[in-house]
Amino acid sequence: MIEETDSPHTWRPRRFMVIVGHPDDADFGPAGTASAWIDAGSEGWLVCCTSGDAGGEDPEANPLELARAREEEQRRAARIVGYQGVTFLHQPDGNLVNDLSLREMLVREIRTFRPDAVLAGDPEVVINRGGGINHTDHRAAAMAAVDSVYPAARNPMAFPWLQRQGFPAHRVRRLYLMWSNQPDVWIDVSATADRKIEALRAHESQLHDPEAVFARVRARMVEQGAAIGVAAAESYRLVVFEADPTEPEPAAERPQAG
Ligand SMILES: [Zn+2]
Repeated sequence: MIEETDSPHTWRPRRFMVIVGHPDDADFGPAGTASAWIDAGSEGWLVCCTSGDAGGEDPEANPLELARAREEEQRRAARIVGYQGVTFLHQPDGNLVNDLSLREMLVREIRTFRPDAVLAGDPEVVINRGGGINHTDHRAAAMAAVDSVYPAARNPMAFPWLQRQGFPAHRVRRLYLMWSNQPDVWIDVSATADRKIEALRAHESQLHDPEAVFARVRARMVEQGAAIGVAAAESYRLVVFEADPTEPEPAAERPQAG
């Protein structure tokens, strides 16, 4: 049980990008936040580094067919959340590596959509709190996302051909790291918790006991909500690179009373 520690985090980006390893990560991850932000007027874009071509139990299955099915599932889920679009980088599932080529692809995505905030995994998590290994692709995607946001996307001399090709440097203001073992902000998703479950429902190939999964995801949101005294929340470890000229900084968001 989490003690109530903070008020809901209310800063909202105009544009945000979610960067994850697999189709379904974004829906197990920040779908409640993404839906809430989109409902409030933000524009979101989803980047999946792999298409989940190893996400099954049958060694005889055709990985390309699985990838195609999972991309379709993710596109359906993305429409439910309300993203403007999804990019699949088609890297190999289970073999994702934070290398220069992955970072160049991510920098190109960031410089194309030009988000104020990027949401990704916390690259420092190898063992999840409470046990369990953070999947190697989750770790690679998280580290690549962080490295692409800072410094590569903002440095005109990183991948200089991108600038020449019409992708000028872009400064992301904030990183929201999901699935962190050291969260420091909680976002109220009481109004969009159901939408997160609906988005998860789209990932049919991954759900063997859907209701059990949904119950677990709901319980997690309720537990996070307790931290800020709301029905449901998602938590993040927040990294602020730049003060937003028109929005209060986190320090100014602390509750005035109570
Ligand atoms: Zn995953």
